[in-house]
Amino acid sequence: TYGEDEGDESDLEIRPPVVTVMGHVDHGKTRLLDSIRKANVREGEAGGITQHIGAYQVLTELEGNERLVTFIDTPGHEAFTAMRARGAKATDLAILVVAADDGVMPQTVEAINHAQAADVPIVVAVNKIDKEGANPDKIRQQLTEYGLVAEEYGGDTMFVDISAKQGTNIDALLEAVLLTADASLDLRANPDMDAQGVAIEAHLDRGRGPVATVLIARGTLRVGDSIVAGDAYGRVRRMVDEHGEDVAEALPSRPVQVIGFTSVPGAGDNLLVVDEDRIARQIADRRNARKRNAMQARSRKRISLEDLDSALKETSQLNLILKGDNSGTVEALEEALLGIEIDDEVELRVIDRGVGGVTETNVNLASASNAIIIGFNVRAEGKATELANREGVDIRYYSVIYQAIDEIEKALKGMLKPVYEEIELGRAEIRALFRSSKVGTIAGCMVTSGSIRRNAKARLLRDNMVVAETVTISSLKREKDDVTEVREGFECGLTLTYNDIKEGDVIEAYELREKARD
Ligand code: GDP
Repeated sequence: TYGEDEGDESDLEIRPPVVTVMGHVDHGKTRLLDSIRKANVREGEAGGITQHIGAYQVLTELEGNERLVTFIDTPGHEAFTAMRARGAKATDLAILVVAADDGVMPQTVEAINHAQAADVPIVVAVNKIDKEGANPDKIRQQLTEYGLVAEEYGGDTMFVDISAKQGTNIDALLEAVLLTADASLDLRANPDMDAQGVAIEAHLDRGRGPVATVLIARGTLRVGDSIVAGDAYGRVRRMVDEHGEDVAEALPSRPVQVIGFTSVPGAGDNLLVVDEDRIARQIADRRNARKRNAMQARSRKRISLEDLDSALKETSQLNLILKGDNSGTVEALEEALLGIEIDDEVELRVIDRGVGGVTETNVNLASASNAIIIGFNVRAEGKATELANREGVDIRYYSVIYQAIDEIEKALKGMLKPVYEEIELGRAEIRALFRSSKVGTIAGCMVTSGSIRRNAKARLLRDNMVVAETVTISSLKREKDDVTEVREGFECGLTLTYNDIKEGDVIEAYELREKARD
């Protein structure tokens, strides 16, 4: 599925196929990878491919055109399957190696099953044809049982008889790979976007620190890019190809060793380029925390009181629905958003995510769960905008991750419950009580400190004890006139929202003021 979600057709350019060599043990996978490497010494080059970086590219010719093919340099389907299990799609096509003097063996069948499960087309290399007793026809016959029918037999699988040892027919095999790829795959990618790829190998190098071989799926990776892969992040300091040469940029399907991670990513981790180092770090930290939490959750047997307490604690929640132009950016956005540092009282939750425009279904969910919809490089589809307006659903569009983060951060700050502080306004002593049939009990007061205001909050004190906590001064008069404020040293008449008052009670008026947050 390379080549999807990458803008217009016109942005897509043909990229090399990425090939894995599979087959039974001792049938010649390693030898084949060696001989392909050797057959491809570039003109004027001394050593050819000098570095084993986990993958390499060779230049070949098809129908007069120069074409590149990328090989994953680890034979066997274990690596292939391990990567697939982690959600990485690092192979377009498989070469199935079968020794002509041996035949279809258990791991041959396993390899076929893995490739077919991954929807990866197969080219069969019938190897060791130099050997006595080699019977390539027998191999063709055996493989028909597994759905691999040779073109000569009326099927659509290409078989090439080779000798990895003698270098026979290697060019024909490369040609078959390209023909099969062109016939059954859409090998196109947009090189004009931030790179996405897969780490296919990584280790800690004594001199260079963490080194990861990355296979670019789409976009172009450049020196200086901020990157994240799994829970590792960093910035591309150097890139080295399989010839040991420094490269400044890597296009789709190109494998490169990347130097600049602050820790070692895992094989099969997806690599993303993000706008800033800060975001790369946030995403990596978030993944780290998640990994730790998952590990803790597994090791925890009983729920502790603390867990229960925090689960019960009231939280305000900001729900988000994320839509983006491809799964990589949606993932990056989610990680970055969840990495925003917020108060414990507020919780940010991504309740749904997906690739594509904002749909009516998204809007309905947002409306039902009071969520904000974020569209990253996408727009609303069909009647979704209309529906959103009707339902009062907020859809926000972004094309830069840090802008999205900034705004959501602000929205979250706005959601925080304000913290108030109390400012004492003044006190008044009740000197006399009047009953009024119209307004209830009127208290004749003397303001003893500060001032008393109409509509102010107050508490009622009796012998310095609070008898009523949340009372409001509902009316305030001087002589016969309604006033808003009476100062210290003046008499006034007032009513409260609380009627059980006595002579000698003290009214303490106060105001709540929102405390500034930092
Ligand atoms: P792998 O386990 O599939 O990687 O197999 P290898 O590449 O290690 O090859 C196993 C053995 O078969 C080695 O001794 C190779 O030299 C030998 N071999 C591989 N390809 C050929 C070939 O085309 N002809 C002959 N005669 N021997 C081969």
